[in-house]
Amino acid sequence: MMDRRVRILDKTFEQTFSPEEIRKRVEEAAVAVSRDLRGKDPVFVCILNGSFVFAADLLRSLDFPARVSFVKMASYCGTASTGRVDELIGLSEELGGKTVVIVEDIIDTGLTMQRMLRLLAGYHPAEVHIAALFLKPGNLKVDLLVDYPLFCIPNDFIVGYGLDYEGYGRNLPGIYTLTNE
Ligand code: 5GP
Repeated sequence: MMDRRVRILDKTFEQTFSPEEIRKRVEEAAVAVSRDLRGKDPVFVCILNGSFVFAADLLRSLDFPARVSFVKMASYCGTASTGRVDELIGLSEELGGKTVVIVEDIIDTGLTMQRMLRLLAGYHPAEVHIAALFLKPGNLKVDLLVDYPLFCIPNDFIVGYGLDYEGYGRNLPGIYTLTNE
């Protein structure tokens, strides 16, 4: 049993969602995804590192056998003429003509998801859906349709359930929000 407060490096975090609350919401989302997409044989594309806990729980709560890939977004500087280059590492599934569900931990400004959608479009999927554990609507800078947003939260920094602070805390079973202390 974790304390309601955790200290990570120089910061203090306080629990804002218990493991039970998260489990209930993830199960509800799995029911919705199963209902909507069961007949479409979707491929779930989970974005590492942050989505690994959410993906494991969501996917095991689906009521049909599904295919799953894990990908990592990488950005690096290309030549002066091309500027920044984005790459999706680990996409082994053939996505052409398929229904794809992106599984993401948190959407903040939405810029990462926008880049992800551009990269995926290059594989010509038939349709793309987004399941995001957390959404910070107050920070969103781009137009995004998030099909399955599980929790909408204020513009605070959170850790736990896959999300980290400086590499720590992904293993916390609940969600913890940064305090002012
Ligand atoms: P965006 O491109 O939507 O601004 O940022 C998305 C990424 O920023 C997420 O995938 C995550 O890595 C990181 N991020 C945004 N907000 C938080 C937060 O509250 N906590 C943690 N741990 N990471 C966050």
